[in-house]
Amino acid sequence: MASNFIQNIIDDDLKNGKYPNGIHTRFPPEPNGYLHIGHAKSVCLNFGLAQANHGLCNLRFDDTNPTREDVEYVDSIQEDIKWLGFDWDDRRYYASDYFQRLFDYAVELIKRGLAYVDDSSADQIRQMRGTLTEAGVESPFRNRPVEENLDLFNRMKAGEFADGARVLRAKIDMSSPNINMRDPVIYRIAHVRHHRTGDAWCIYPMYDFAHPLSDAIEHITHSVCTLEFEDHRPFYDWLLDVLGFDPNNRPRQIEFARLDLTNTITSKRKLRQLVEEGHVRGWDDPRMPTLSGLRRRGFTPTAIRNFCEEIGVAKANSMVDIAMLEHEVRDDLNRNADRVMAVLNPLKVVLTNVEGVEQLTAENHPEREDTRMIPFAREIFIEREDFMEDAPKKFFRLKPGGEVRLKHAYIIRCDDVIKDDAGNVVELHCTIDPDSKSGGATANRKVKGTIHWVAADYALRAEVRLYDYLIRPDAGADEDFIASLNPESMIVIENALIEPSVKGAAPLTRYQFLRTGYFVVDYDSSEEKLVFNRIVGLKDTWSKVQSKG
Ligand code: ATP
Ligand code: MG
Repeated sequence: MASNFIQNIIDDDLKNGKYPNGIHTRFPPEPNGYLHIGHAKSVCLNFGLAQANHGLCNLRFDDTNPTREDVEYVDSIQEDIKWLGFDWDDRRYYASDYFQRLFDYAVELIKRGLAYVDDSSADQIRQMRGTLTEAGVESPFRNRPVEENLDLFNRMKAGEFADGARVLRAKIDMSSPNINMRDPVIYRIAHVRHHRTGDAWCIYPMYDFAHPLSDAIEHITHSVCTLEFEDHRPFYDWLLDVLGFDPNNRPRQIEFARLDLTNTITSKRKLRQLVEEGHVRGWDDPRMPTLSGLRRRGFTPTAIRNFCEEIGVAKANSMVDIAMLEHEVRDDLNRNADRVMAVLNPLKVVLTNVEGVEQLTAENHPEREDTRMIPFAREIFIEREDFMEDAPKKFFRLKPGGEVRLKHAYIIRCDDVIKDDAGNVVELHCTIDPDSKSGGATANRKVKGTIHWVAADYALRAEVRLYDYLIRPDAGADEDFIASLNPESMIVIENALIEPSVKGAAPLTRYQFLRTGYFVVDYDSSEEKLVFNRIVGLKDTWSKVQSKG
């Protein structure tokens, strides 16, 4: 891992012998949605810091809010972290593992006069909290005797009260300049079944109570989180202080800037809305910035890890250009994806001096020796846009009377253009130069263009899905999120044609379709019908952005 300000802190800590048992981090997702590209940054950072420092990283589900959580998310989160290439070994924990201990800590606070049961409503509590410029107001229940608090808290736990009827609050300071210190709520009543603890509990700890204590219980040394938690740190410190956690041997919280990407939604709430309202086909829709969506789209874990490494870790929020992620994807695929030929928008070509079928040799990758055979025959298809009847001078593909090379095959000349009654070009008649293939007498004859093609009788039919960003590039910043969705974020080509070598390719197999882009076999693909997703086009817009800047 490249150096960053967090690594520098760890270096200092290690030098000072502060953590004799080594570095211990954690990735703490709430299982209320699928992980997205922003979470990948946190995963790479936490697991990466542990790896780089010969330490450990736990996976901990912060499952304190059962109304929004589900095992579906628990499962998907684990799958996504493994796919990214990280492993928590046997250290998978849940905040719910600690519900009893957290309850006991709360009881201890009550006994020491540091927490109280408040009968005020949520609204009243909000009103009494004050503002940034005005101190808060003490609740009329703030000075309840300890015994009464204990009794009420136990009865909250026993299920005697309705949701929202009472809460437990820490007793700190209603006039603190930090609003998080104005007697924050630490327990609430929720008669909701929990995906792990079932009906055992009807009170649940608040995130701000459970999180620092869970970190401390797990002996986390460096508790890395996003910037918005900076203002919560004084409460975490207060809690660990009063509960007697050794100040020299407790989690140190370090905040970093969250990842925001251009053209990308990284709000779980909005992603969930897209799924629930059917604007996309699911959490793993290839347009989604979720890790399961990016996986289905054909992005590689290597590319995502390289991207997270490349953007680094900062202390101030900023916007990263999505082109940079796409650049990493291209970079990885350019090196590793096999090349094949596919025609997305076919135009028939009859090669009038060709009979029978010939198997030609084609390299699988320009930097490798291995090859495959591709059939060549009298009828082929080329890309419609590779032919132009009234071509401008600089058009180096096929035109009437012109010549072009068929990749891995022969030079052809266009002799005739066949049209339908409406004047549309429906077929070309061409002749090959029989000596122009590799090894032939005119193999090195120069023609300006080389185009891809497939043999009509041997090509496989494929559905190809082309994607664009979910949010229209021209959407206004304050435009309604749903109104700003791009109606052309998915375009389906039903009848693309692809060379037969890809037959039977498993989902997630990635290819470069020569001259067209990078494509991946979709889960919907079958023996009967191949389905591909376009991962990215060939043109790298990131290099362009950089040279401009
Ligand atoms: P919420 O808490 O509102 O449900 P969240 O995106 O913070 O949403 P968590 O499950 O709490 O979801 O996130 C798990 C971890 O990932 C947290 O440590 C969080 O700080 C981190 N994280 C979330 N979004 C980003 C982001 N865009 N960039 C970097 N880290 C992120
Ligand atoms: Mg969060």
